[in-house]
Amino acid sequence: MQDTFQAAEICTCPSKTTETELMQHTLYGIFGGTFDPVHNGHLQAARDVMDRCRLEQVILVPSHTPPHRPAPAATPAQRYDMAQLAVLDLPGFCVDDIEYRRASVSYTWDTVQALKEKYPDHRFCLIAGEDALSELELWHRWQNLLEAVHFIVIRRPGWVKKKPLPAWWQGMQARSVQDLHRTPGGRILELSIPPVQISATEIRDCISRRMDVGHLVPESVWRYINCHKIYLSP
Ligand code: ATP
Repeated sequence: MQDTFQAAEICTCPSKTTETELMQHTLYGIFGGTFDPVHNGHLQAARDVMDRCRLEQVILVPSHTPPHRPAPAATPAQRYDMAQLAVLDLPGFCVDDIEYRRASVSYTWDTVQALKEKYPDHRFCLIAGEDALSELELWHRWQNLLEAVHFIVIRRPGWVKKKPLPAWWQGMQARSVQDLHRTPGGRILELSIPPVQISATEIRDCISRRMDVGHLVPESVWRYINCHKIYLSP
């Protein structure tokens, strides 16, 4: 778990109370997605974010019905099962069934509210690829969301920014990981981590062409996909 700070980092904190405050508010990462299916790109990126940002826990939240994209190929139950299998051997990771249980359009705002109730002593960072964040202004209550939590934006290989960053984004940029630990929300940290060039679209496409993509997903997920014959039709 990444809940302790290096002495040198604590020394750079502006006030003496900061260390105590930091320890009281451990930071959880929320990693939402369709996860159709969850793959090694998601998991590697989330692990890197966890290490770099000293997150206590990463909570994967598979959506039930994503608001801004076509219906997933696998059912909500299958995507939830696969996410659970994927984190079984990953310390510090868990899956929350909050969106699955709501069984309706999955708004991140509702999820964040529910997780804040469930973990009242924790602070949260939403982890998202830059492709997902580029459409943030379409999200339900996106401005409230920006105030309520931090955002950690990870680079997506092959994804090209279509327009410059909006002014509000630039005004919220975090200068360091410590910014995330010092404040309750409202910061955006862009993180460069080693890119993993995998997408769920590519995996679904390969499976529909009967290709073996066992190296792109955890073994347990690959067995589940084969056992339930998911993604066979394009
Ligand atoms: P699809 O290809 O179906 O759009 P996806 O691979 O992008 O799926 P999602 O479930 O839509 O997966 O993604 C959930 C989150 O994970 C998003 O914020 C997305 O940007 C991020 N993400 C997905 N794949 C990667 C990757 N290889 N590296 C970093 N982030 C990723």
